[in-house]
Amino acid sequence: MSIFDIGKASISNKVIAVPQTETKLYVSVIKGASEGPNVLVTAGIHNEEYCGIETARRLAIILDPKSIKGTVAIIHVANPGGFAVHARDVVPEDGENLNRTFPGNIEGTASHRLAHFITEDFLKPSAFHIDLHSGGGREQLLPHSYFQAMGTAVLKSASKAMAEAVDAEYMVAADTYTGSAFSHAAYYKIPSIIIERGGMALWTETEIEAYLRDVIRVLHRLGVVDSSIPRIAYPKIIEKTMQYKAADSGFWYPANPVGALLNKNDSLGKILNAFSDELSEYKAENKSVLLYQTGSLSVRANESIVTLGILD
Ligand SMILES: [Zn+2]
Repeated sequence: MSIFDIGKASISNKVIAVPQTETKLYVSVIKGASEGPNVLVTAGIHNEEYCGIETARRLAIILDPKSIKGTVAIIHVANPGGFAVHARDVVPEDGENLNRTFPGNIEGTASHRLAHFITEDFLKPSAFHIDLHSGGGREQLLPHSYFQAMGTAVLKSASKAMAEAVDAEYMVAADTYTGSAFSHAAYYKIPSIIIERGGMALWTETEIEAYLRDVIRVLHRLGVVDSSIPRIAYPKIIEKTMQYKAADSGFWYPANPVGALLNKNDSLGKILNAFSDELSEYKAENKSVLLYQTGSLSVRANESIVTLGILD
């Protein structure tokens, strides 16, 4: 029996202990009155990405089992230990990024055991997967999504169709396996997308409302909900992204807001020391759009400071 097997037209809220760990997952399962796909929604794989987490909580309230088709299982906070102690998007027991430990390992440390449990009990029985993320605690981002450009053409087109339902200007074709739940879903031929909205460990009503509309629109695309919601943007595909890392530790002064359209040689920002000496400057190498950047004044050498979506 899988997590999706509950009575028709019902809601089940469960606290599920992850075997051989201290972790307890809060899971809502909403099963419709009529047949439809099993859809897994995960939030809080990165525990500081609050927009996704708050969206998942509200999604569990608004999905009506009398009207949806199929079953939606929501893992509210996939890294609850990190959420409880304000960890920097790692599982506190072993300090690892949960989204680099999939498919997990029952013999491994806490994050690997957690990833193994999510893979076996949630991901594998799913027909579709929606993974809710945001910028990290020091990260600003332009809302966008990722679809699976790895795996078969059928998988790619199903994942892309989901990403097209997100009201964002860009969707990134992700073609590398990273140990994320999203890329691991591709191994099982499960169409999956990542949605990114919000950042800096903040959340606002405006962002949550937009995020909920995105998820409902994706669920409509999958045939789970009947009515869709109008959108503003239709996403353009980004085939390649480029990440810039800080050469120095110091004070970071970004030159642009996220979403800025950049040409080759446009400044991305500078790092100064406390005496205002310029330590390094960063420049766009291509025509691109600014997807993410560090929003904190302090940066550390080798940390990512800017991620660009390449447009040419
Ligand atoms: Zn994330």
